[in-house]
Amino acid sequence: MITIERSPSLAGSTEDVAFIPFTLPDITTEETTAVVDTLESGWITTGSRAREFEQEFAAKVGARHALALNSCTAALHLALDALGVKRGAEVITSPYTFAATAEVVRYFDATPVFVDVEPVTLNIDPTRIERAITKSTRGIVPVHVAGFPAAMDEIIDIARHYHLPVVEDAAHAFPCAYRDRSVGSIGDCTCFSFYATKTITTGEGGMLCTDSDALLDRCRIMSLHGISKHAWNRYAADGTWSYEIMAPGYKYNLTDIAASLGIVQLHRAGRMWLRRREIASRYNGAFADVPQLQIPHDDQAMQHAWHLYMLRLNLERLTCDRAVFASELKNRGIGISVHFIPLHIHPYYRDLYDFRPDDFPVAYHEYLREISLPIYSKMDDTEVDRVIDAVLSVVEHHKR
Ligand SMILES: *Cc1c(COP(=O)(O)O)cnc(C)c1O
Repeated sequence: MITIERSPSLAGSTEDVAFIPFTLPDITTEETTAVVDTLESGWITTGSRAREFEQEFAAKVGARHALALNSCTAALHLALDALGVKRGAEVITSPYTFAATAEVVRYFDATPVFVDVEPVTLNIDPTRIERAITKSTRGIVPVHVAGFPAAMDEIIDIARHYHLPVVEDAAHAFPCAYRDRSVGSIGDCTCFSFYATKTITTGEGGMLCTDSDALLDRCRIMSLHGISKHAWNRYAADGTWSYEIMAPGYKYNLTDIAASLGIVQLHRAGRMWLRRREIASRYNGAFADVPQLQIPHDDQAMQHAWHLYMLRLNLERLTCDRAVFASELKNRGIGISVHFIPLHIHPYYRDLYDFRPDDFPVAYHEYLREISLPIYSKMDDTEVDRVIDAVLSVVEHHKR
């Protein structure tokens, strides 16, 4: 959707400039056709398309199993349930993330134990994890912020030493690799998101990946009312009418309508990723030598998914703060966002645990100077250039 807004920076001009949205899904007629085929097939909820999506996704990330779900939040919730998180347990994660990562811990009346991030990648700082481990710790949940992988070697070492499972919040991290390993094949369980803004989308959707048969079984059962047989088996011609309720489960299954969209997105994921990488490299080229700006960290040994392009402002070299910088980009017709307002400064966590902003100083201070720029495969070069020009012009107006 393109909204047309007159840019105040062009006051007096008769020209209308199209607003560049912060994010847009990349949906082609291939996806539309696949969805219509499913709608006309007679089976629209979880069935053969969801199974096919699971198998292809598992193969792509090198996991033994994948379970298609209606969100990444659902995947994180089911993973913690399967790993035995209960009331009073502690789960280590980072405050530099979206609501979902910690709220799933609160579903169990358990405690998210925040560990500050390290300033280069904004991922959980592995050197601070050990100090946060107690007798109640039941797992570690690293987040691959922006699609750059967390320090998995260090995290897995600590987890092994303390016999703790690792559940990765990989909502930003497809396709992503840590050295020669795809994210999805590293931790005990990896949770992906197919929300509308993510690198591949099913509108709403998620995928849980694991090598463990037992974890998969528990998550599959709990994803559909705690029933031990899948709907596909229950109602297929050769299925049986019998089923058993094993636990009070949830309603987290992905529809075949969504899965058929996901299968096409999965096939196109490599091409969409190449385009995002191209946009990142154009931004990097334009901003690397500007002292007012800090470009995102990258590393040749890793595959950055480039879900987000997180630019940081060197505020001491600017006469404005991030809020002014952001609103001036908006005035120039550029959609931006901020990732993330750290969880510990939100009223719920602040009041529940009596947090102060400086309890996690890196997360808090990096948040104050972060602006995310548009980066999606539907952007053309003219739009990328307009973003670059707008950023450089705001810098020019406010440099110290
Ligand atoms: C989007 C997001 C989620 C939640 O994904 P859903 O599929 O919307 O549930 C979880 N963690 C992070 C870091 C996210 O950005």
